[in-house]
Amino acid sequence: MKLPRLLLAALGLAFACQVGAQSKYPERPVTMIVPFAAGGPTDVVARIVGEHMSRTLGQQIVVENVAGAGGTTGITRGAQASADGYTIMMGHMGTHGAAPALYPGLKYDPAKDFEPIGLAAGTPILIVARKNHPATDLKSFIEWLKTNGDKVNMAHAGVGSVSHSTGVLFNSVVGVKPTFITYKGTGPALNDLMAGTVDFMTDQIVNVAPQVQGKTVKAFAIATATRSPALADVPTTKEGGLNGYEVSAWNAVFAPKGTPKEIVAKLTDALDKALDDEGTRKRLLDLGGVIPEKSGRGGAALQTLVVSEVARWTPVLKGSGDAK
Ligand code: ASP
Repeated sequence: MKLPRLLLAALGLAFACQVGAQSKYPERPVTMIVPFAAGGPTDVVARIVGEHMSRTLGQQIVVENVAGAGGTTGITRGAQASADGYTIMMGHMGTHGAAPALYPGLKYDPAKDFEPIGLAAGTPILIVARKNHPATDLKSFIEWLKTNGDKVNMAHAGVGSVSHSTGVLFNSVVGVKPTFITYKGTGPALNDLMAGTVDFMTDQIVNVAPQVQGKTVKAFAIATATRSPALADVPTTKEGGLNGYEVSAWNAVFAPKGTPKEIVAKLTDALDKALDDEGTRKRLLDLGGVIPEKSGRGGAALQTLVVSEVARWTPVLKGSGDAK
């Protein structure tokens, strides 16, 4: 008789401790894995929202850049981390949409192995080239691509990244086969684009907006239905005469599967507050980021997005023999 009672008491204590730990969360800094190099779009979005989330949570969110394999190295590490709320990650359209089509051995399932916290920002795609590029508009740029074939260098952030997937789509819509140059993120790729050692890339607006404004790179088009208020001079792909290339990416926060609900709710609330904060909004909007409406925020909306993005990208990328 004594044993079950002792056992019950022990179980009760363990439960109480767990609940206590959850209600005190966070008691120490939280690591946010950014699966690309510092200074790129994922890093920028993570640092902007992370700063405000830290204020709400009362603990620092510390960004850790774990780059490699188009973002899948960092997200694999995040998926396998302890589900205690002290490791979260900034994923995106590549790691949680495109990657399954391109990595048969992917060690995580974007729709099953995470607790979705929420969408952080939408990031339209821009077609950007080195500033001394001879083309003057999208039409002449596409002609130049066709004339120069594999002598053209296209930068991307690894197979399955946003720049890679949207670049593969661009190449197939236009009918060109440039040579791919791989980086650990589009932060370092942008440095080479500014230096003129690569010709072009398709990248998230939050990475390139300041350079387009400063004219250190040339933007030929934005791949959205309407222009971005942050770059009002840049025409849409459709305005530039290119149909069938409208594509936007996104960044979103995830926790490992099994992270307690109370902790997930705290993180979702902190992200929501960040997206309502005027200063945070301004920083994202100035870079061309699209702030999700209330209905697009939170875990349920993100889960729906992930499922639809995997379904959207899988046929596009599997059908493209030129993805690698
Ligand atoms: N978003 C990545 C980065 O932060 C690059 C990519 O996915 O293209 O560098």
